[in-house]
Amino acid sequence: MKEVVFLVAIILVAGQCHGAEHGAEYPIYPLRMKTGAGGHYIPEISCASWRLGVEAHNVVDWTSIPEDCIGYVGNYLLGDQYRSDSKTVNQQAYFYARTLNFTDKDVWIFDIDETTLSNLQYYADHGFGSEPYNATAFNEWVELGEAPALPETLKLYKKLLNLGINIVFLTGRPLSQKAVTATNLKLAGYHKWMKLILKDTSIYHGKTAVTYKSAERKKLEESGYKIIGNIGDQWSDILGTNVGNRTFKLPDPMYYIS
Ligand SMILES: [Mg+2]
Repeated sequence: MKEVVFLVAIILVAGQCHGAEHGAEYPIYPLRMKTGAGGHYIPEISCASWRLGVEAHNVVDWTSIPEDCIGYVGNYLLGDQYRSDSKTVNQQAYFYARTLNFTDKDVWIFDIDETTLSNLQYYADHGFGSEPYNATAFNEWVELGEAPALPETLKLYKKLLNLGINIVFLTGRPLSQKAVTATNLKLAGYHKWMKLILKDTSIYHGKTAVTYKSAERKKLEESGYKIIGNIGDQWSDILGTNVGNRTFKLPDPMYYIS
């Protein structure tokens, strides 16, 4: 009898431990801000919040990254987190794409800068977006035609090609940079596309990226294509009209284009 009681007690205790392991017994603690000496915010934490605000499109129309966050943004971009975040987005895009039954009229839209090609090398020399945009210096960099691929996007591109999806590149780069952009894309590993659309400044001068990209996507759909996916690093790549059946936002804490 004693043995039976002992056994039952052991089972009961084991059962309680099991419940606790799954969090059933944990009290709920209030959320606390983590502060440094004297109650000051830790820049790492407020910069992480700023970046979340940027990615969620709560922080809008900003012209440069906060001065306090240059180190944080640089570490983010050059460390593992940027690559990991890019991987997550591109993977989700692929998981979605492989569920589709598509036709030869289906297209997938890729933005170029900070989506397909990386200008990180340029921005690393210009304060990771803390310096005001310098069109002359940036165009000189573009004209080199040496921007490398964003590796996780290149993987998605290759997988989509294997699935037989038509690729359309839609970029805010001006039409005058078409040749160098095509050469750069090929050099970086993007060898095939259905269309490469650049901004015709005689039509879209002074227009926002949202207006320009919406109009070009509309033209595509009016000519019989169906946009099944759309990926970019700016919200202006995926807002507006004719955005596609699903959109994917890649990280970019360096600059904001409306
Ligand atoms: Mg871009």
